[in-house]
Amino acid sequence: MTAKLIDGNQLSQELRAEFRVRVDRLRSIGVTPGLAVVIVGDDPASKVYVRNKARACEAIGMHSEVHALAASTTEAELIAFISRLNTNPAIHGILVQLPLPRQIDSRAVIEAIAAAKDVDGFAYGNIGELVVGESLFPPCTPFGAMKMLEFAGVAVEGKHAVVIGRSNIVGKPMALLLLHAGATVTVCHSRTRDLAGIVRQGDIVVAAVGKPRMVTADMVKPGAVVIDVGINRLPDGKLVGDVDFDTVKEIASWITPVPGGVGPMTITMLLSNTLKAAETAAGIRATRADTRIG
Ligand code: NDP
Repeated sequence: MTAKLIDGNQLSQELRAEFRVRVDRLRSIGVTPGLAVVIVGDDPASKVYVRNKARACEAIGMHSEVHALAASTTEAELIAFISRLNTNPAIHGILVQLPLPRQIDSRAVIEAIAAAKDVDGFAYGNIGELVVGESLFPPCTPFGAMKMLEFAGVAVEGKHAVVIGRSNIVGKPMALLLLHAGATVTVCHSRTRDLAGIVRQGDIVVAAVGKPRMVTADMVKPGAVVIDVGINRLPDGKLVGDVDFDTVKEIASWITPVPGGVGPMTITMLLSNTLKAAETAAGIRATRADTRIG
């Protein structure tokens, strides 16, 4: 079997075209959706991510601001900065690029973001809503992975989904989104015994580990749907996922590539969450009923 590709670039383009229409509708009533991205310090990878997010906003007519603060910024200074963004009516979404320098408690900073502007979905309030299945802002990476399943027409209900990785930003929220979609979910991590045996039971496999090509063809059930969240740079500079794409594509029914898979979808869902925040602030999204995941 040669798997069909779930193309994150193509899906992103389609979704972003829809978002542009929604942005235009908001602008016609005097609201330009705005995202503020705050970066502290000089991490080169973070700078690239931040630039890509800002460009993606501008490409669909949204306002974006990048605030680059010095590596020596204190926690109190950063929280005061966020408080000003919280009350700025031109800003609907606030994203603080992680990781933060050591002197800053990331949790304290995330909790300082107003709930209505927490478009990354990392604050406790949002996590609670995610647990009960009513999140306005599902975390962008797993939300993007769910959209990819939807796009491919994969019926999640009743399937056995195996998530490898239990981080707060990918593995755990991914497991919750799959659970809400009706999957039976197994979450694997570094202490899991017989990882290969468990992954082989998965109708859907989501790899979010950070280990290049660790999911090999012998670990995958024929016909499984494989979502590769991993982004790993090899010594030769090549980007690869957590899945051994070349061999697994011969076994799976659907597979996401790296690059061009979940990566672009993460930014797309950030745009989606920011747009939702602006629509909510403008009174276009009045009820929680239309904020359900899925
Ligand atoms: P973390 O390092 O926070 O989590 C990795 C998880 O993998 C942990 O739960 C860890 O288990 C588990 N793990 C580590 N080794 C093994 C192993 N040998 N077998 C089974 N499980 C293992 O990473 P993130 O969740 O932040 O990111 C995961 C990957 O996704 C990375 O490659 C990252 O670059 C990528 N990523 C991609 C994004 C995108 O936009 N596409 C966005 C965010 C991340 P334990 O908890 O026991 O330590």
